[in-house]
Amino acid sequence: MKAIICNGIRFEKVEAVIFDKDGTLANSHQYLWHLAEKRAALIDAIVPGAKSKVLAAFGCDDPAGLMAVGTREDNINAISSLINQEKSIVRSIFSDADRLLDRKAKLTLPYPQIVELLNSLSSLKLGILSSDIEPNIRDFIEEYHLSDYFQAIVGAQSGMSKPNPKLLFLICEKLGIEPEKVIVIGDTIADTRLTPRSIGVTWGGSTIAQLDGAAAIAHHPSDIRLSHIRRM
Ligand SMILES: [Mg+2]
Repeated sequence: MKAIICNGIRFEKVEAVIFDKDGTLANSHQYLWHLAEKRAALIDAIVPGAKSKVLAAFGCDDPAGLMAVGTREDNINAISSLINQEKSIVRSIFSDADRLLDRKAKLTLPYPQIVELLNSLSSLKLGILSSDIEPNIRDFIEEYHLSDYFQAIVGAQSGMSKPNPKLLFLICEKLGIEPEKVIVIGDTIADTRLTPRSIGVTWGGSTIAQLDGAAAIAHHPSDIRLSHIRRM
């Protein structure tokens, strides 16, 4: 049975590791800023003067902001109420903004040492549980040749956001692992509140105070280590 050690905290009986994507595996800061700017400029064209309040609502500087952790639907709903326009209008603006940007995967590189971390954990089952849509998750892992590391991915689900435990059950079911045998690694409380067995990471910009519920904190991917020592 394997254990994971992170800065003095030991997680026993680990059979799988579930990763968040944006802010954990992938550096999405630059992409989120570009996307927020494009969306806000298009909104400003139909609601003059709305740009600054739309950018403030997206909260790109906040790793736990709407843009970083909200699903696309969360963002559409929030902006639709903010500018008092139909959701269908906001949805179509968001699609126009997507077309003006390069593919997300191209703009969101893996953080340094992520490949080394995945290599070191490759004797466990690995999964990705993200608020991003599944095609973007697949595009990211294919773009950076990471597909072979992951046995399951779960993207945004209608009507459910992290830390809803049903999402953890869903990915555990796909991996064929009981939820108590997994650990979750992520950069916001949406991840660290999924399970008591979670590691909060600060390399995406979150502070320790923003990682409430994390059993351990990692400041660098090399803080997370697999232990093969068999305990009697
Ligand atoms: Mg994240």
